[in-house]
Amino acid sequence: MAIRNVVQEGDEVLRKKCFEVTAFDEKLGTLLDDMRDTLRKEDGAGLAAPQVGILRRAVVIDVPEGFFEMVNPVIVDAKGEQTGWEGCLSVRGKRGIVTRPNVVKVEYSDRKGKRKKITARGFFARAVCHELDHLDGILYIDKAERVDRD
Ligand code: ZN
Repeated sequence: MAIRNVVQEGDEVLRKKCFEVTAFDEKLGTLLDDMRDTLRKEDGAGLAAPQVGILRRAVVIDVPEGFFEMVNPVIVDAKGEQTGWEGCLSVRGKRGIVTRPNVVKVEYSDRKGKRKKITARGFFARAVCHELDHLDGILYIDKAERVDRD
């Protein structure tokens, strides 16, 4: 386990499309462990692999509903709308107002490759949308109607 460096806005790695995870091996487990440790140290709600410089479709999310590791996640359904403040560990010192779905259904694999499905609501749904955007090189500041200094 280790704390990894969180890449900051301006680094090209945050603007690339991530590759599907095909090997559910020890290396993936180490990546997810390190992402969890890094997220907790930074006190964030979510972290995507490209934020630690790895172009793989993997995210970790830490919300009141629990701690989730999502590999190859896909949003299969989205409903409603919520508008609120959002921040990002890769965009330090800023926050912005972003509109997201209020409910999303997401399918993903766990670290062993077992496919799972969960419905996320409210802030959890916002976190899922934000982290999945990272896997396609999208940052919240691209979608924000307003960005302020935090
Ligand atoms: Zn982010």
